[in-house]
Amino acid sequence: MVMTDFDDELIAQWGIDTLAVRAGQVRTHEGEHSEPIFTTSSYVFDSAAAAAARFNGDEPGNVYSRYTNPTVEVFQQRIAALEGGDAAVATASGMAAILSTCMALLKAGDHILCSRSVFGTTSVLFTKFMAKFGVTTTFVQPLDYAAWASAITPETKLFFVETPSNPLCDVVDIQRLSVLAKTHDCKLVVDNCFCTPALQKPLGLGADIVIHSATKYLDGQGRCVGGCVVGSKEDMAEILGFVRTCGPTMSAFNAWVFLKGLETLRLRMDAHCANAQALAEWLSDQPQVEWVFYAGLPEHPGHDLAAKQQRGFGGVLSFRVNGGREEAWKVIDATRVMSLTANLGDAKTTIVHPATTTHGRLSPGEKTAAGITENLIRIAVGLEDKQDLMDDLARGLLAL
Ligand SMILES: *Cc1c(COP(=O)(O)O)cnc(C)c1O
Repeated sequence: MVMTDFDDELIAQWGIDTLAVRAGQVRTHEGEHSEPIFTTSSYVFDSAAAAAARFNGDEPGNVYSRYTNPTVEVFQQRIAALEGGDAAVATASGMAAILSTCMALLKAGDHILCSRSVFGTTSVLFTKFMAKFGVTTTFVQPLDYAAWASAITPETKLFFVETPSNPLCDVVDIQRLSVLAKTHDCKLVVDNCFCTPALQKPLGLGADIVIHSATKYLDGQGRCVGGCVVGSKEDMAEILGFVRTCGPTMSAFNAWVFLKGLETLRLRMDAHCANAQALAEWLSDQPQVEWVFYAGLPEHPGHDLAAKQQRGFGGVLSFRVNGGREEAWKVIDATRVMSLTANLGDAKTTIVHPATTTHGRLSPGEKTAAGITENLIRIAVGLEDKQDLMDDLARGLLAL
């Protein structure tokens, strides 16, 4: 039983902006307007009997901040409401969210079916660490639905996908994958980091579990590392069981930062989308640019699906310059506004050369298969003036 200041009936009527500002609110007797940060590791009981009741679960309430914390609880309530899930579990990072999901829902002998275009560390988690505990993974081309179907084994328990993908913005049909997953008694996990619930709600499209790296757009200003999992009461109870026992818990301070980030989520995402669209269109017109990957462009193969499945096309784009590594590096090194860093989901625009950074671990063959060419540049478009971003790229492009 979770307490909030609003009853379920009222919350059910709210739109996304109201949920982002209000959901989960529990005002204390102090009457504070902004949510308080409960920096306490443990909680005090009124009597020995009350302590016993808390510990054995007869009475709801806080015991210890590895289990529950009021600030973290508000964040969990709010992100669950935004994603349209029963419940959420906050974690120390996005990777902790993925790890906790696997540890809670899988056992030795189980099999994960994973899109080839997922965050690099996610594939390392699956192939290097989950494999040590007897959980195997098969990677498939995300848009090859026949490959998903034919890779299913009796041991397959989880489908794992990111859409749009990084860095080429491939758009995967969540509904279609969810039907396939359900037919084979598997759960579909969607990493919704790139879209956030402001642009895409995977649970409504049939996914069972949504993962977030809150580090990215949920914070939105590059301050804290955190993550969360959203889904059914049953699955979240299992995952919370893992988190409270094994400890990849979100701190109260980070939960508070993410709460403040959520309040402006939709406004920021719309601004990211508008800036990315303008930059993608401008890049398409530059003679030094070979190709632009952004689902907001009508020529992108995922354009129609993204228009149906998402509320906006997102803030991340990539493009190929004419030439190779030397030309790509020239463009990157000529920027003075954009930050040369692999992070994304920040008010500050970031630029990176995937082939030698985020995807540098891949073999040459894997890079070719994933479309990570030497002339590819990825930009996570921030909230600066779009003209300044264009000027920043023009400096390098004109020098080619
Ligand atoms: C960053 C990221 C993660 C990992 O999140 P951390 O908070 O860095 O642990 C997972 N998935 C995607 C898509 C990401 O961009």
